[in-house]
Amino acid sequence: MSEPTNEFEMAQRQFDQVAELLKLDPQVRDILRWPLREFSFRIPVRMDDGTIRIFQGFRVQHNDVRGPNKGGIRMHPAETLDMVRALATWMTWKCAVVDIPLGGGKGGVIVDPATLSTGEKERLVRGWVQQMWKNIGPRQDVPAPDVGTNPQMMGWMMDEYSKLVGQYTPGVITGKPLGGGGSQGRTEATGYGVIYTVREAMKHLKLDSTQCTAAIQGFGNVAQYAAIGFIEQLGGKVVCVSYWDREDRASYTVTKNDGIDPHFLMKITDQYGSIDKTKAKAAGYLIEDGNAWISKDVDVMIPAALGGQVNGESVHKISQKVKIIAEGANGPTTPDADVVIKERGIFLVPDFLCNAGGVTVSYFEGVQNDMNFYWTKDEVLTKLDTKMTEAFNAVLDMSIKEKVYMRDAAYMVSIARVVKAMQLRGWI
Ligand code: GLU
Repeated sequence: MSEPTNEFEMAQRQFDQVAELLKLDPQVRDILRWPLREFSFRIPVRMDDGTIRIFQGFRVQHNDVRGPNKGGIRMHPAETLDMVRALATWMTWKCAVVDIPLGGGKGGVIVDPATLSTGEKERLVRGWVQQMWKNIGPRQDVPAPDVGTNPQMMGWMMDEYSKLVGQYTPGVITGKPLGGGGSQGRTEATGYGVIYTVREAMKHLKLDSTQCTAAIQGFGNVAQYAAIGFIEQLGGKVVCVSYWDREDRASYTVTKNDGIDPHFLMKITDQYGSIDKTKAKAAGYLIEDGNAWISKDVDVMIPAALGGQVNGESVHKISQKVKIIAEGANGPTTPDADVVIKERGIFLVPDFLCNAGGVTVSYFEGVQNDMNFYWTKDEVLTKLDTKMTEAFNAVLDMSIKEKVYMRDAAYMVSIARVVKAMQLRGWI
């Protein structure tokens, strides 16, 4: 079969394979293959020069049988409705696999946020809320940050929603800044969550983490904290990260064979994830081609950038040494690459399990907002670790019991939970 032409086709194909294994009813498949609701809207924004620019916005609510839809809002120049549909679908499986009472949603805006001033960004996200406020809310749909959006934007969006409904409603959105209704640990959550699953995978494979090396793709929020966690929690070594250079319009791998220092690299990285390569070079880092990360001789590979990076072609560059692929990004591996990874017996921690730490702490943030009582960072991260470890073990047990690939096992666990909720609520 040829590779899918877009992420949504890929999400549907992954689902179809498991639906077949589970012998799901055609009606159940029909509900779950598609989002329940989709919104596509125009957002007029007054730009700093006085002109009006119209932006295209999206929100997709895939399934809310287990609780309110949940998922981030992406700002990307190449955003499409199909991309948002795929990501909303994966959110349903993600919330189910970590067993939090939330459904799946995702939003988007077609824009490169780096081209906007702070004021323009604020007016754009407030405009997004003005279009969507009747269809979001703590009991309906709760957005969050994702690629191209950040805590400050969440703060503005919470403010806009609160003004429109006439009452302070922190639970309408998560990933808010600390002091503005945010939770301790939310910034670190996705990257640390990735590392908790890598730790469990290493236990299963009987690997000594202090002897392990990793190559990370990306240097955004997920990659940064995955790098810190790999070094500081597991005692391992990270040999490279990669990033998109805005000026050169090219991606680079930033390598140091005796181990990168993520704290140093974060200091020379701008808010859009672009590393200052002159400063990196001066500190002894090697600046290589953007694809170099995939062929590194490491034990663990963590694709934590955008989707589709490990595909039918690039998968063959993966070193024989690699034992674990931990998918920090959403949808980094295409179905053709999955076939090769499966055949080679590389242990895969699939995306919606591996990167579920973010939404898990988003859930904790909503709980704290509802209680109006806030936990310490230690409390949050301990609860996160428990959730991620339980989810990992549920998927691993399924994979062993049913003798299936970890991605299929994760789907089996999630689909079973969603289908059960549909039965309990009388949908099917
Ligand atoms: N955008 C993140 C994800 O893809 C977090 C979603 C959330 O916190 O709701 O999982």
